Amino acid sequence: MSRVEECCARKGLRMTPLRRNVMKALAESHVPLGAYEIVQKLSAAGDPAPPMSVYRVLDFLVAEGLAHRIESRNAFLACAHPHDDTDVVVFLICERCGLTREVASHAIGRDLAWAARAAGFEPRQRVLEVAGTCADCREAASAAPAPAAKGAAKGAAKETAGG
Ligand SMILES: [Zn+2]
Ligand SMILES: [Zn+2]
Repeated sequence: MSRVEECCARKGLRMTPLRRNVMKALAESHVPLGAYEIVQKLSAAGDPAPPMSVYRVLDFLVAEGLAHRIESRNAFLACAHPHDDTDVVVFLICERCGLTREVASHAIGRDLAWAARAAGFEPRQRVLEVAGTCADCREAASAAPAPAAKGAAKGAAKETAGG
């Protein structure tokens, strides 16, 4: 939250209540939110705002690097850290629960810059979206009763955790 205020102060922009509310809605969610979901959240919180204003605020937050747009979901995610120009932002998106984590990588950025240059290509936006299964969902899946294994456990050696 303080990053938004900092950013506004640095650029001489006003930290409007709507900017604060939209940022708060994004920051509270671990799942990317669509613009319409944000409009609904604001109404539910007692701070209704017209969708057009919410879209404008989202554009602002994305332009300032305070939020990211997840293209494949048409949704937005708060960004908690500053980015280097050479970073590639990688979104790890869980296909089961929607949890989305952001990781940044200099190494991927370097490789990508090299590959793009070799192709004579000028990248505008360096974002990768990776679909898969988050740690929680993987754990939940492995904890679920597995189909009866045919005597597999019988001869299995008893493992003891080493220190
Ligand atoms: Zn980010
Ligand atoms: Zn998940």
